[in-house]
Amino acid sequence: MQMLKVHNLHKSYDGKEVLSGVSFEVKKGEVVAVIGPSGSGKSTVLRCLNLLEKIDRGTIVVGGEVMADTTGEGKVLYAPEAHLRKIRLRLGMVFQNFNLFPHFSVLQNITEAPVHVAGMDRSKARDLAMELLEKMGLSDKADAYPYQLSGGQSQRVAIARALAMKPDILFFDEPTSALDPELTGEVLKVMRVLAAEHMTMVVVTHEMNFARDVADRVIFMDKGQIVEQGNPRELIDNPSNERIRAFLRNFS
Ligand code: ADP
Ligand code: MG
Repeated sequence: MQMLKVHNLHKSYDGKEVLSGVSFEVKKGEVVAVIGPSGSGKSTVLRCLNLLEKIDRGTIVVGGEVMADTTGEGKVLYAPEAHLRKIRLRLGMVFQNFNLFPHFSVLQNITEAPVHVAGMDRSKARDLAMELLEKMGLSDKADAYPYQLSGGQSQRVAIARALAMKPDILFFDEPTSALDPELTGEVLKVMRVLAAEHMTMVVVTHEMNFARDVADRVIFMDKGQIVEQGNPRELIDNPSNERIRAFLRNFS
């Protein structure tokens, strides 16, 4: 079953095109890693899906529901506001810098959206949050505040917070890039657990070992386009494309 379809996505900033016809699909339960040089448009794709940016052209379909489409005349039509918000809730986002609410405890960070956006009963949201914290190995941090956490702990809270909304797809934008090297492992570990549970995930990452071992498919982006996508081992270990080879040389 198809969870996400992005077709012919175009996006410009100040007349400069940063996405030039990006198309890909994600199936239910699939883990897709997105790799590519800095500035290639990876975050912009996620921001367009997240409605933080409007697209200039293209189609976005989430779980069979059309979020945005483009007419024959090139006019972009978004779903009505209320419907859009509902579709948006199916997409979970985890960012490089965690973006936790600093004045909320860990528990409040996780229960805020389920209670105030999804209308979940407060005690149910609390139970769910505790369950997720246990899964993240952070049961003892429920009452802590973000400033008391390490980067790795903060990112695991951010993952729990995203999961609390029970998204259909979880997007990660370089989730370990802001972490000290010794803390990336604990975040990648919980992501591996989610992948093993067949959570549908799209992970923008520079962690090539993670992409190779965990992803079902790798997408390589360069200069606003998907240059190639395919089997992680073939694409990473034996790339035929010179742009991918040049990119990967920076990691060895
Ligand atoms: P990546 O995540 O692959 O590093 P980005 O999607 O962040 O790449 O950026 C793609 C291109 O778009 C870059 O050239 C970047 O400078 C440009 N860009 C991103 N956001 C903006 C913005 N808000 N205004 C102008 N240019 C932007
Ligand atoms: Mg980026």
